[in-house]
Amino acid sequence: MELFGKTAIVTGGGSGIGLAIAKAFVSEGAVVYVCDRDKNLVKELRDTDPQIMGMVADVGVESDVDELFDSVLEACNGQLDILVNNAGIAGPNGPMETITLSDWEATLRVNVISTFLCTRRALEVMKKQNSGSIVNLSSTAGTHGYPLRTPYASAKWAIVGMTKSLAMEVGGYGIRVNAICPGPVSGPRMDRVMAAEAKTRNLSEKQIYDQFVSQISLKTFVEAEDIAQMALFICSERGEKISGQTLAVDGHTESLSLLT
Ligand code: NAD
Repeated sequence: MELFGKTAIVTGGGSGIGLAIAKAFVSEGAVVYVCDRDKNLVKELRDTDPQIMGMVADVGVESDVDELFDSVLEACNGQLDILVNNAGIAGPNGPMETITLSDWEATLRVNVISTFLCTRRALEVMKKQNSGSIVNLSSTAGTHGYPLRTPYASAKWAIVGMTKSLAMEVGGYGIRVNAICPGPVSGPRMDRVMAAEAKTRNLSEKQIYDQFVSQISLKTFVEAEDIAQMALFICSERGEKISGQTLAVDGHTESLSLLT
C-alpha cells in the first residue's frame, strides 16, 4: 500500500498508459480520479473499474480543467498529492511543409498546454501542502530527433523543458516534478502510429515495426504496465529524492531516425 492516503489525478486515463497508471495507483491504496475527453471510455471505466473515479474533461480546454479540479478538490477536501499529465495525441506525420497550422496547434494544445493548465491548478494546492509529485508524460521523441513527426517531437521536448524548469521552481515546497519518456508501447496507439508512418513512407506496417525494433537495444516494445511501475516508483516514498528527471522506459532507444 505504497500510496495509501494519497489522492491522484491522471489525465487521459480512459485507456492505454493512463489507465494502467490509474490501476497501479489504486492497487497501492490511492484515491484516483481519471479524466478523459472520450465520454464512452469514461462510461466503460465506471462500469469496469468502479474504484477509479472517471470524469469527462478535455484538458486542452481551460474551463474543462477548472471544472475538473474544482470537482476533485471539493470531493477530497482540498487534498491533491499526485498529478499525472498523461493525456496526449500523436499529431500528424509528414514533411514539415505539409503540416497544417491547425494540426500543429492541436498537437501542442493536447500535449503541452494541457500540462500547463492542469499543473497550474495542482500547484495552488501542492504549495499549500508543501508536498506533491507531478509526473509528465514525454516520450523518446522528447529526447531524440524524430523526422516526419516534428509537431509531436516539439511537444514532447517542451514537456522536458517544463519539467526541469518547474522542478527548480517548486523544489523548495517539497514538490517533485519528473518526466517519463516511454519508448514505443504495445497497443492500439502504436498500431495507429505505425499505420500512419507506413502510409507516409510507402512501406508496410511490418517494415515500420522492424525499423522501430531495430533501434531498441532490448529488441522489444514496452508495455503500459512498465510505464505504470515507473510512475508508481517516483510517486511513492521510494522516489522521494527524485526530481527534475527525464526517466526513459524504452528498452534503450538510441535513435528514432526511421529514414534509413
Ligand atoms: P492513448 O491514445 O492510448 O490514450 C490517450 C488517452 O488520452 C485516450 O483515452 C484519449 O481519449 C485521451 N485524451 C486525448 N486527448 C485528450 C484531452 N485533450 N483531454 C482528455 N483526454 C484526452 O495513448 P497512450 O499510448 O496511452 O499515451 C499516453 C501518453 O504517453 C501520451 O502523452 C503519449 O504521447 C505518451 N507516449 C505514448 C507512447 C506510446 O507508444 N503509446 C510512447 C511515448 C509517449
